[in-house]
Amino acid sequence: MELFPVPDVPEIREGDDLAALVSERVDLRPDDVVCVASTVVSKAEGRFADLEAFPAGPRARELAARLSDLTGDEKDPRFAQAVLEESVDLVMDEPFLLTETRFGHVGVNAGIDRSNVPDHDLLLLPKRPSESAERIREGLAADRVIVTDTCGRPFRHGQRGVAIGWAGMSASRDWRGESDRDGRELGVTVESVVDELAAAANLVQGEGADGTPVVVVRGFEWGDHGESDAHFRDVDGDFVRQALREWSYD
Ligand code: GDP
Ligand code: MN
Ligand code: MN
Ligand code: MN
Repeated sequence: MELFPVPDVPEIREGDDLAALVSERVDLRPDDVVCVASTVVSKAEGRFADLEAFPAGPRARELAARLSDLTGDEKDPRFAQAVLEESVDLVMDEPFLLTETRFGHVGVNAGIDRSNVPDHDLLLLPKRPSESAERIREGLAADRVIVTDTCGRPFRHGQRGVAIGWAGMSASRDWRGESDRDGRELGVTVESVVDELAAAANLVQGEGADGTPVVVVRGFEWGDHGESDAHFRDVDGDFVRQALREWSYD
């Protein structure tokens, strides 16, 4: 398997056709997986925003004031308002805002970005990243597309790429019912392929001024395995999130 960046991608603007931009620059094969940073998907979809568009309500003012006190860093209540408006659930409200977006992804500040955003204060995540992935896929010779974002994680330092949307493939490889080398049947392993490919792609995309938001994964084979499209956990099946909730609302 190899990964390579799509060369010479310009600064993406609202209305740009990402599939056409990619197709002009690489000869894609049907079994390629095209990994696109959410940043450029958002730009193409015009998800730019300015703080003045988010007049803060009482809840946002309260959250921002508390976070400012706690961190010693002045938090803009309009930013808290933007985070709330992009979210369906507030998972943690200190020492940062960890929320669930409308499409089910849990991330700090609802994934709202302030880096690589020219002329505006904020860049919101795509509204429905899997639908974005499907639209891009329709314009490509490649059959599989993943929309990635760089995200922190609990328990470990450092950030890595995750899949926030995908099309043309299932999210996970289901190993349940298969055997290990000793013939023991695997009971629980469902491997999040889209996250693994997103993490690899993120390594090539870079985080700063690299200018390589699209990475092609060539030669990845699914193999003879089951498939699952489950990706974002529901609160009901997420014991860590439940524990966090019990702890933080004491
Ligand atoms: P995120 O991980 O989706 O939040 O995106 P990042 O801000 O980390 O950017 C990922 C990569 O895309 C980096 O190499 C950036 O330099 C690059 N990038 C971001 N926006 C653009 C753009 O409009 N055009 C190009 N060519 N590269 C961009
Ligand atoms: Mn991001
Ligand atoms: Mn990134
Ligand atoms: Mn293992």
